[in-house]
Amino acid sequence: QKVLVSGANGYIGSWVVHTLLERGYSVRSAVRTERKGEHLKKIFGEYGGRHEVVVVADITKACAFDEAVKGVDAIEHIASPVQLEAEDPYELITPAVNGTVGILQSALAHGTSLKRIVVTSSCAAVLHDDPNPQEFDESDWNEQSLEILAKGGPALTGIMKYRASKTLAEKAVWQFWEDNQGGLSWDITVLIPPFVFGPAIHEVTTPASLNESALLWYNHLIGHTATGTKGGTWIDVRDLAEAHTLALERPAAGSKRIIVAAGAWTWQDFVNAAHAVSPPPKLLNGLPLSSPDASPADTATVPMRKYKTIRAAEILGLRYRIIPDTTKDTLADYEARGW
Ligand code: NDP
Repeated sequence: QKVLVSGANGYIGSWVVHTLLERGYSVRSAVRTERKGEHLKKIFGEYGGRHEVVVVADITKACAFDEAVKGVDAIEHIASPVQLEAEDPYELITPAVNGTVGILQSALAHGTSLKRIVVTSSCAAVLHDDPNPQEFDESDWNEQSLEILAKGGPALTGIMKYRASKTLAEKAVWQFWEDNQGGLSWDITVLIPPFVFGPAIHEVTTPASLNESALLWYNHLIGHTATGTKGGTWIDVRDLAEAHTLALERPAAGSKRIIVAAGAWTWQDFVNAAHAVSPPPKLLNGLPLSSPDASPADTATVPMRKYKTIRAAEILGLRYRIIPDTTKDTLADYEARGW
């Protein structure tokens, strides 16, 4: 069984490739340049001919994935820009939407052996800002981000542009499904993760080169740069990779959105877990870990969004790592890098 993985050199993509290879699949990793494939060839060299790299230079162009989809049994479409500083929202929206529609169209035209496509969406496509955050489920859509996108103005912040890109990209998936499902020999599953934390195996040289979510974690625990985010819902990147594998294997996952989330967190939960690691992690780059709060972490006192994950439990049977384990492994990863 061969799986095409787009965004294979990213934080989540690399773990998805790793997990698939460990499970015995062959993987075709799609990256934008030969250069971006080098690290993958190195870390996955031990799998020999079961891992290959393909260059798809511009995912916004129609037919960009035509060659890459040929001969694969499944696709994990993960590539999408995750950056919060774009001026023009279409810097995010165009690759998010065109990349998604493009890979589906290439699959339609050339995916003769395909059985399933898994698309990585985000809770950004589900949630909306609310002073009294509710518990969301798979019936929710982030219409708020699209209304703000249409109006523009100061409410169209970096995060709002990202949310709009993910909402539009996932809506395009289901529009494609509605238009084409009758004639398809394959189906689609959309996975919906919240904040993703945990160690990295993709090419990261300095803390600043971590992807957005892992950098946020680093900045809060090690870098002392607090942001407005006090807490939320999370999943370990390795569990998310497991979910991507299970989503290929469980027939009932077909034609469904599935929220995959381990539970709620506050930064204090991770800080306390860091201080409980034994033996204590070394000081990193001379920066001490943030101080533990005298008061116990209490996710009930921080207003935050929550998500129902019954569908993931029933269909995927996914088990989740807990905060102490992810914290310990992430700090061990930093130490191994000499940070
Ligand atoms: P990374 O930034 O580490 O990876 C993003 C991947 O997408 C990279 O391979 C990147 O390639 C590729 N990509 C980005 N922009 C483009 C573009 N314009 N054209 C082609 N490829 C592009 O982020 P993550 O691994 O965290 O995110 C992966 C996916 O998971 C995204 O779809 C994201 O929305 C989703 N997600 C992430 C969450 C998180 O907390 N991390 C939470 C929920 C969803 P390149 O290196 O060449 O730029």
